Amino acid sequence: MQFTDLGLAEPILRAVREQGYDTPTPIQAQAIPAVLGGGDLMAGAQTGTGKTAGFTLPMLHRLAAQKPARDARGRIAIRALILTPTRELAAQVEESVRTYGKFLPLTSMVMFGGVGMQPQIDRLRKGVDILVATPGRLLDHHQQGTLDLSHVQIFVLDEADRMLDMGFIHDIKKVLAIVPAKKQSLLFSATFSDEIKALADRLLNQPALIEV
Ligand code: AMP
Repeated sequence: MQFTDLGLAEPILRAVREQGYDTPTPIQAQAIPAVLGGGDLMAGAQTGTGKTAGFTLPMLHRLAAQKPARDARGRIAIRALILTPTRELAAQVEESVRTYGKFLPLTSMVMFGGVGMQPQIDRLRKGVDILVATPGRLLDHHQQGTLDLSHVQIFVLDEADRMLDMGFIHDIKKVLAIVPAKKQSLLFSATFSDEIKALADRLLNQPALIEV
């Protein structure tokens, strides 16, 4: 199996080649076709398996295949939302989005707490296609009316088990109440407790199941 067999657009394959990746990892070989197909996904994968590219590459492909969404003011609106448990992971994931999307006309932003709101508000005003965020700060922005999630089409929960361990379940439920009901949802978790399964039941619609 080669990256070129997966149906990804040429600008994405170019970025992958630049990274020097030879072949897709097992999670990528399974997740990429599933996500390209538009369905929901529940994937069991640890860090280090290549899971980030597993959801980022097909997400970029799907977003690039369509026109940007625009809000009422004509600004580019968020179509993909990735939630992570920590700032470090959020920054890492957004770096991957930039790396793999460098040849595409898509914009991304990372948002987390512990830093000022205003620079984030200024960045949001410029328009963002892909937002990577930790739950608390995301909700802060939503409550202040500085964040529009009404155009979200792809929703990713990364390291969902860590998010629950860190007590984010209420925040996640609040976010789920804000984003559109009709969307593609992807859940990544290293472990599958009853709590994760309950969250998956609530979030996912006939998901493809992948375990590596
Ligand atoms: P992740 O599990 O997403 O945190 O990725 C772990 C590491 O594997 C990252 O440093 C990636 O750059 C690298 N990686 C991802 N996909 C591949 C691949 N297909 N071949 C080689 N390295 C990869």
